[in-house]
Amino acid sequence: MSPADALHAINARISAAERGAGRTPGSVTLVAVSKGFAAASIAELAAAGQRRFGESYLNEAIPKIDALSGLDLEWHFVGPVQSNKTRKIAARFDWVHGIDRLKIAERLSAQRPPELPPLNLCIQVNISAESGKSGIAPAAASELVRSVNRLPRLRVRGLMGIPAVDAGPADLRLAFRRLRELQQRLSSEAAAPELDTLSIGMSDDFEVAISEGADLVRIGTALFGTRDPVRPGRREFP
Ligand SMILES: *Cc1c(COP(=O)(O)O)cnc(C)c1O
Repeated sequence: MSPADALHAINARISAAERGAGRTPGSVTLVAVSKGFAAASIAELAAAGQRRFGESYLNEAIPKIDALSGLDLEWHFVGPVQSNKTRKIAARFDWVHGIDRLKIAERLSAQRPPELPPLNLCIQVNISAESGKSGIAPAAASELVRSVNRLPRLRVRGLMGIPAVDAGPADLRLAFRRLRELQQRLSSEAAAPELDTLSIGMSDDFEVAISEGADLVRIGTALFGTRDPVRPGRREFP
């Protein structure tokens, strides 16, 4: 399948899921997760109309962002954020999905260059209650959202969640639904930021996520194909 065909196929599935859930056509945003794939492949998808791309590893992402800087793309950091990486993430990305600690958010705010608009953030919530997995506990999310939202150079846009890999269909749906309900609850609290972006759904579960209220889906494999762990960032479309 050509990159344009792969993109059209995913967009058709997103549209069908929107229709099936009675949602406004075009209300779900696609972030194409390009980790593991070369700048040339990203450029092909950009030529087919895709503007938002996600990356998980800073060292892999920076050369690609540099190579494609003429294309006016929107870059989303979707991996874990280590504190020694915050300066470059704050300078080079438009969005960060997956903040679960105030300290990291404080660094991103302090390091966001003054000439750029505030950095958009989603707070990662542990929606499957697995120990050792990243994401803040649901009960602690309200306080973190408020604290992060007080930082001057950040804008909290919503919550992000990744269900347990072994979640069955019912658990998956329930995890997404609980996150949406949490986001709605936080939005209605006094002095809460307007949360307009529920960031849930990946290649294997984005249609379920859309039926449970996803505003933004992060899709890699279903668009680009399987990643090559040995040569990260270098695979190209066949
Ligand atoms: C890699 C990744 C994705 C994309 O995963 P696929 O299963 O390839 O669609 C989405 N979100 C995050 C946080 C990721 O790390």
